[in-house]
Amino acid sequence: MSYDVTVIPGDGIGPEIVDAMRLVVDAVADINWEKQDAGMNVMEAEGTPLPERVLESIRRNKVAIKGPITTPVGKGFRSINVAMRKQLDLYACLRPSYSLKGVKSRYTDIDLVMVRENTEDLYAGIERMVDDDTAESIKLITRSASERIARFAFEYARREGRRLVTAVHKANIMKYSDGLFLESCRHVAESYSDIKFEDRIVDNMCMQLVQHPNKYDVILTENLYGDILSDLCAGLIGGLGIAPGANIGDEIAIFEPTHGSAPSYAGKDKVNPTAIILSSVMMLKHLGEEEAAEKLLKSTAAVIEQSKHVTYDLGGSAGTAEMAAAIVAEIQK
Ligand code: NAD
Repeated sequence: MSYDVTVIPGDGIGPEIVDAMRLVVDAVADINWEKQDAGMNVMEAEGTPLPERVLESIRRNKVAIKGPITTPVGKGFRSINVAMRKQLDLYACLRPSYSLKGVKSRYTDIDLVMVRENTEDLYAGIERMVDDDTAESIKLITRSASERIARFAFEYARREGRRLVTAVHKANIMKYSDGLFLESCRHVAESYSDIKFEDRIVDNMCMQLVQHPNKYDVILTENLYGDILSDLCAGLIGGLGIAPGANIGDEIAIFEPTHGSAPSYAGKDKVNPTAIILSSVMMLKHLGEEEAAEKLLKSTAAVIEQSKHVTYDLGGSAGTAEMAAAIVAEIQK
């Protein structure tokens, strides 16, 4: 079967990792790639970093995969990534972190999944200068979005045979916003007596994840804490180069690595394509292509374990394209 998928190369290291991903996916599945540019590169020509044609393509195909897109720091346009997630109501950000053999890390048996609320919190973009001395950002949390993401986490846990959901919050300080999030999670947990539920305060959770990552399973949290903890979890498994992700709504899903556009590495054929390749494994599963997904995962894991054709972050000296070619060779064995 063939599938229409929107592909957004992004900027920085985006185009080169997307090329690598397309090469390996084409070796296991039949995908019609519909390329759509977005980000800084189209800003000048089209007057917006996120043209309507991009959203139309994603709405039509229902599935997209993207490279990272740079967001100017402290000025300029707002994040296109956040805008896309909001406008397409991709309310769940799913980021698994699992150990791969051959990757140097202090931990060898990590198996965690981050479920991050993707549409509100401090990322709602409600901020302003009150006066010259004062800036204000509003943290927006709703019961409906909190219950929706909690249900997503429990349904995911049940479907994937996971044992524990841990809600992460700061309800001791933000009694209203985080209090509402926690209350919503507790309420939803009551309907899932087969799955254990507990909660942790976010600062404690950071320490817990570094000291005892194996005590945790599915982490359910708000937008900002999820963003930060995702990178922490990537650190546990050996870095951002191998951390995949997906943004999921009721009808549409966009797959993308956890990492950003790493501008200083752009165009150098240096960075690791694994994070976006493992995101494409998630995409193939989402499309129902279980066998292709499994083959791609196994071949990628084998190349990493052999340690011969891997990028600098995995201790090798291969470039992005060489690593992708080695994965294709492994698929064809
Ligand atoms: P980053 O994730 O781009 O890079 C941080 C560091 O992680 C890099 O310097 C590099 O050492 C390492 N790294 C990242 N990807 C790697 C890979 N594939 N292989 C090997 N090493 C890798 O984070 P940043 O520098 O904080 O952000 C750069 C830009 O990316 C910012 O504009 C930010 O807004 C944007 N960003 C976009 C997304 C997205 O598109 N979803 C996500 C995060 C950040």
